[in-house]
Amino acid sequence: MEHPATGYDVLIVGSGHGGAETAIALRNGGFKGTVAIMGGEPDLPYERPPLSKEYLSGKATFDQILIRPPGFWSAQGITMLLGQRVIAVDHIARLVTLEGGPPIAYHQLVWAAGGTARRLKCEGADLKGVHTIRSHANVRNLRDELPVIRRAVVIGGGYIGLEAAAVLRELGKDVVLVEALDRVLARVAGERISRFYEAEHRARGVDIRLETAVDSLRGRDGKICGVRLTDGTLIECDLVIVGIGIVPAVAPLLGAGAVGGERGIVVDAQCRTSLFGVFAVGDCAVHANRYADGAEVRVESVQNATDQAVVAAKTIIGQGASYETPPWFWSDQYDLKLQSVGLSAGHDDVVLRGDPAARSFSVVYLKQGRVVALDCVNSSKDYVQGRTLVARGTRPDRAMLARLHISLREVLLTEIAGA
Ligand SMILES: Cc1cc2nc3c(=O)[nH]c(=O)nc-3n(C[C@H](O)[C@H](O)[C@H](O)COP(=O)(O)OP(=O)(O)OC[C@H]3O[C@@H](n4cnc5c(N)ncnc54)[C@H](O)[C@@H]3O)c2cc1C
Repeated sequence: MEHPATGYDVLIVGSGHGGAETAIALRNGGFKGTVAIMGGEPDLPYERPPLSKEYLSGKATFDQILIRPPGFWSAQGITMLLGQRVIAVDHIARLVTLEGGPPIAYHQLVWAAGGTARRLKCEGADLKGVHTIRSHANVRNLRDELPVIRRAVVIGGGYIGLEAAAVLRELGKDVVLVEALDRVLARVAGERISRFYEAEHRARGVDIRLETAVDSLRGRDGKICGVRLTDGTLIECDLVIVGIGIVPAVAPLLGAGAVGGERGIVVDAQCRTSLFGVFAVGDCAVHANRYADGAEVRVESVQNATDQAVVAAKTIIGQGASYETPPWFWSDQYDLKLQSVGLSAGHDDVVLRGDPAARSFSVVYLKQGRVVALDCVNSSKDYVQGRTLVARGTRPDRAMLARLHISLREVLLTEIAGA
């Protein structure tokens, strides 16, 4: 293929999971053309999940969380353009414009730009000591402050807030966690899971305050010293972690006319955007998901970014692929491993397998008799076997499902035999 000397057959914007895995899948699929990954961050591709777990706690070094060893990329003929940001896309001329430097030509563009941590808009949001957990740089700064920290307020009871709270408690810090809704994990898990995690965190000393909204952050000499709640309460602290979701990084593609919005760029089952020659994968992409009854969703998980990357790469190579994996996710807090598969939103029935008091149990979510999702706590066997139930949309015998001594594999085989 002939392109301008400065251009690439495939230009990938974003050096996170989606970007790295697209390049890897292209080479694994035998793609011989030129490939470049452009990343706004200066670092080689690294895994984001440890940022709120092992890397935050200091149990893992940065080298240990790299997606591939440093020499891998050049050995694979993948050019790394790090510390450079795309600010505009011209899909007709097939050029991207950078924040600084000359434009770069491409033949196919893969947008894997993820998102940025949503920030508070209230007074004091920019004080020193107020952190988000999205990038290596964020957590490096946070880690630098930890030794002198006594009391932290975590704002947001989603996965990242809870994981950060767990690490801080393990490091011996006082932690107050403030959640605006009436339960933690409200957007991603059923109520039983929420209540279990609230109890676990409280038992470990986290002061969880539900249905609590932040009015402002208070500072002294430019440094955080407290969080003022809307009811007037002041929680004194010397660190704040804000974990209130992300804003998809999609402005350059929207500017080019791609279908989508602030919720993300819309892609089809091959991860193609509405712009010719432009794909999108990972946290920035919205797709119609069969596990959400065809509704458009944006899934924030390593699995989604990786699997979409493989589909985009195969489509570019002409190998044909569609994205239809059941979404899965994990979260580590204390000695608890939560593994989830499927999308539980909209379920109308719940079956509990096991006893939460034993700290090993699963919650199976059903919709009109069909298994749509599972949340498994320290219960990897249920998670592994339950994936097939979700993928097949199994309609199990409810009483059988509740019996812990009957494996989910047996539940599946019984359903198949009876079908
Ligand atoms: C703290 C934390 C914990 C997590 N824990 C889990 C977990 O336990 N399990 C799980 O499945 N998922 C977890 N996730 C989610 C998972 O990490 C993401 O879903 C995944 O990283 C998405 O990959 P991505 O490639 O779409 O985006 P990202 O990994 O965000 O990568 C996007 C990259 O694009 C760059 N970029 C953005 N705009 C531009 C631009 N204009 N020009 C150039 N570069 C740009 C960004 O700087 C970034 O490096 C976690 C995420 C975080 C932050």
